[in-house]
Amino acid sequence: MKRKRVKELYTLADLQNWQEVTHDVDPPIRLGVLGDPVEHSLSPQMQNAALKHGKIDMQYARFHILPDELHDALDLLCKLDFIGANLTVPHKIAALDQVDDVDSGARKMGAINVIAIRNKKMAGFNTDGLGFARAIRDEFSVDLRDLRVLVLGAGGAGRSIARQCAMENCERLVIANRTFDKAKQLANELRDHFIGPKVFGPVPRLQAIPWEEAAFRFQIANIDLIVNATPLGLNRTDAPAIPARLLAPHLMVYDTVYSPARTALLGAAAEAGARAANGLSMLLHQGALSFQIWFERDAPIDAMRAAMA
Ligand code: NAP
Repeated sequence: MKRKRVKELYTLADLQNWQEVTHDVDPPIRLGVLGDPVEHSLSPQMQNAALKHGKIDMQYARFHILPDELHDALDLLCKLDFIGANLTVPHKIAALDQVDDVDSGARKMGAINVIAIRNKKMAGFNTDGLGFARAIRDEFSVDLRDLRVLVLGAGGAGRSIARQCAMENCERLVIANRTFDKAKQLANELRDHFIGPKVFGPVPRLQAIPWEEAAFRFQIANIDLIVNATPLGLNRTDAPAIPARLLAPHLMVYDTVYSPARTALLGAAAEAGARAANGLSMLLHQGALSFQIWFERDAPIDAMRAAMA
């Protein structure tokens, strides 16, 4: 069947007038990503490739939804027989209280990025953490449990990533955040995961550190993987999330930002001789896990990867 082009961006007003707005769209839109901003999201490319590959007769679209519109938008998705949705900035935390049920893992992460709608009830999930773990395995051929990890950021992405590292019993976890209290609070929440036999010299297995060059410098020799989970890098003029002079060849550097593909951090990592990768692989794996939740079958990951490339 020939698929008609969907609009680049829909809004709450479109959802309120959905039959008219989409009367010529075939197959129907029954999935989407909600965010603000959302126009640069690659999820439609990736998910539409998966739907086409799976011969599933529906499409996935972008929805520009403001924070105070989220409740109405989710309500409409239910009424309009959507299968589900992805959530991106700034909705991941706010949506927790707006769905009927939250998966226990997502509850612990304190954020949801996937909604599945069944019988007009919404269930929330979080695939960012596991998507990140799979991305690290893909990019660097190593598992989190074998790594000493420094996570930069303690927002939605930072929390999911830090919790995944803790759940996979990583060797060491250091959390740095601009607002230091949030790093400390997150470390406290994860403390139970680090009461164990792994002991590595004088440095603690779990630590929150302030967002300061001296604090970063002190950690580098005892870190294998640095993860940027802040928006630093989204703007081409952004300085690297961690000063370039601190980067060293033994490091792996993962930037959750994927647009631009080579952030200042990734450029500095390459120059320092470190291995480096951007967040496209995390996007891919969280998306594949979302597909699996919606359709209860494996996602066609090669088709999704090819569509993003
Ligand atoms: P968020 O909940 O708004 O958290 C933002 C985090 O970044 C907070 O820890 C914040 O610190 C910190 N931050 C913001 N501006 C900063 C600055 N100028 N200097 C230092 N720290 C700063 O956002 P999020 O959902 O975690 O998303 C963060 C980024 O992760 C997004 O921009 C996106 O690029 C990326 N991401 C990628 C994927 C993927 O699949 N690749 C998935 C999710 C997210 P404070 O606590 O001090 O405010």
